[in-house]
Amino acid sequence: MKSPAHRTRDIERQAGYLKPEHCAPPPPRTSSDTMWFIRDGCGIVCGIITWLLVFYAEFVVVFVMLLPAKNVVYSLFNGVLFNGLAFLALASHARAMCTDPGAVPKGNATKEFIESLQLKPGQVVYKCPKCCSIKPDRAHHCSVCKRCIKKMDHHCPWVNNCVGENNQKYFVLFTMYIALISFHALVMVAFHFLLCFEEDWTKCSNFSPPATVILLILLCFEGLLFLIFTAVMFGTQVHSICTDETGIEQLKKEERRWAKKSKWMNMKVVFGHPFSVAWLSPFATPDHGKADVYQYIV
Ligand SMILES: [Zn+2]
Ligand SMILES: [Zn+2]
Repeated sequence: MKSPAHRTRDIERQAGYLKPEHCAPPPPRTSSDTMWFIRDGCGIVCGIITWLLVFYAEFVVVFVMLLPAKNVVYSLFNGVLFNGLAFLALASHARAMCTDPGAVPKGNATKEFIESLQLKPGQVVYKCPKCCSIKPDRAHHCSVCKRCIKKMDHHCPWVNNCVGENNQKYFVLFTMYIALISFHALVMVAFHFLLCFEEDWTKCSNFSPPATVILLILLCFEGLLFLIFTAVMFGTQVHSICTDETGIEQLKKEERRWAKKSKWMNMKVVFGHPFSVAWLSPFATPDHGKADVYQYIV
């Protein structure tokens, strides 16, 4: 009898029955392969909206609230903190978008590759019928990326990419920094309203009072919406990293076939060994270890 996990996979074949000759040979590598970027209209629009929303928040924070404020220390401290976190959020976004999430080479289901795995009788490899690749364990096919992605969690249109083995760190940092700047912006708006209610509004902002109120209310709305959305996403991601179960595996209730590790070890796998301040940096690439042929065999 097949286990539920086996039923969820696309195609299951014993080594002897695989028909690699039905797959086209892998396309030759071109210079466009060097940078990962998904050409998906919806994802590109969502990605641009994300950047514009951050720029809007920066504009209101700097030009409506901080520059007209009389307390230079308050403005300087909050300005540096907010812009620093916003920069890290956008850098995390860019890296999550332009990092290969762990794509399996297209069309690698060739006779030579399968022979190189040296399968023993009874051992099973999985072939993806959509991109003609031999899937490593825990890889899933993404219909937007048109590729099989190792440890695929979900496809996120906001970062116009899949969240998988190689870019999960950047995605988690992106949600964390967006949650932090949203919270920071809300605190600053609250302070601004409190201070300006006692003062003359014309001295409190370089803009007219109605324009100031509209800009602040829009920032409040944006901050609240994104704080809730990204904080929930951050919590969900950290939970799935600690339990070492991707979003898709939870959704499909896939049977665990991989070794159980401690929560701390699972965090290190995603964020890098050993624990350091680099965990918080979108510029530090975590070491995911070398791929080996055994990940293809179940
Ligand atoms: Zn595939
Ligand atoms: Zn995808």
